[in-house]
Amino acid sequence: MNLTHLECSKTGKNYDASRVHNLSEAGAPLLARYDLEKAAQSMTVEDLRSRRTDMWRYAEVLPHKNYETLISLGEGWTPLRKAPRLQKTFGMDSILIKDESVNPTGSFKARGLSAAVNAAMERGIRSFAIPTAGNAGGALAAYAALAGAEAVVYMPADTPAAFRQECVSAGATVVLVDGLISDCGKMIAGIRNEKGWFDVSTLKEPYRLEGKKTMGYELYEQMDGKLPDVILYPTGGGTGLIGMWKAFDEMEKMGWITKDMKPRMVSVQAEGCAPVVKAWKENEPKATFWENAHTCASGLRVPAAVGDFLMLEAIRESSGSAIAVSDTEMMEFSNEFARLTGIFPAPEGGAVLAAMVKLRDSGYIKKHETVALFNTGSGYKYLEAYLQK
Ligand SMILES: *Cc1c(COP(=O)(O)O)cnc(C)c1O
Repeated sequence: MNLTHLECSKTGKNYDASRVHNLSEAGAPLLARYDLEKAAQSMTVEDLRSRRTDMWRYAEVLPHKNYETLISLGEGWTPLRKAPRLQKTFGMDSILIKDESVNPTGSFKARGLSAAVNAAMERGIRSFAIPTAGNAGGALAAYAALAGAEAVVYMPADTPAAFRQECVSAGATVVLVDGLISDCGKMIAGIRNEKGWFDVSTLKEPYRLEGKKTMGYELYEQMDGKLPDVILYPTGGGTGLIGMWKAFDEMEKMGWITKDMKPRMVSVQAEGCAPVVKAWKENEPKATFWENAHTCASGLRVPAAVGDFLMLEAIRESSGSAIAVSDTEMMEFSNEFARLTGIFPAPEGGAVLAAMVKLRDSGYIKKHETVALFNTGSGYKYLEAYLQK
């Protein structure tokens, strides 16, 4: 294992990685740090070719001790698909779709939760709690089921039925809350110590981020050592955006890429819940709580994110951008996505396509640039949103 320590993302203070942690004393996310020089020696592009075809192929830059015994449903190593009909329709030369809908439990939450559950179990944890807007709860429930661990899932009472049912079926305790994911998070924080639950909220433990960052490594391998010019990513808690940016940083330190190869990171949000877009436009270092958050894209219904400042940093450092789309546009483009690619996307996937068209029209994205669209989940859990249209 090359994990050396955890580092506070605000103060830089170091923490012992052999123990479980939530936030740092400064109330900020902890970031996993590795001996990257050592990692680079064995994790070469040539060596990677013959490895297992899931995210555990990147063992050298993951925080786990034993890769033989960890629990897995085959998360990660999702296809990066060409999209010729999207290109033709929208006048672009190169659109790639990172299709995260084929992950276990139908979304990329599988990456983060498998990383977090395995890391916590290696450190003695057997009982987990999570606040969720949708997919995260299902992913935790699935890995807890596989491991025989306890999962407690708090979700808004108006979360679509599929998200709820997958947790119930997997044996999780589901608590329906009259409120948003932020309210669910507060309720867990109030009783987790008394109950003995380990809180795996987004960025409130260090390893979901590590699972999500593997998307960045996969892009590099699947593009034969290149990276896209622009990444369009539907942003809720921000683990994917922050995680990929961390991966690119690690890749630079390992000598895989140069700084100028890093993509521009674009955060896509819903008009009914766009705290990062607002902060970006107002040039603020962090976001403010978004009142009355509403959108059919459950994964984007996150009114406040503890990692907001890290998202804004990644967007700024990469010359990226942030943009909101309406639910109507989102659903229109979700159907367009399906019609032109054969992939039935989560509304979050439709949102990035809608955003791409807007950014092409505004001139931010050029015709000749390579654009990676993240379809972060499957449409099957969002039938209510599709039927409402
Ligand atoms: C959770 C979720 C998102 C947001 O992901 P973050 O990395 O936490 O910002 C986007 N799309 C879907 C389908 C999700 O479930």
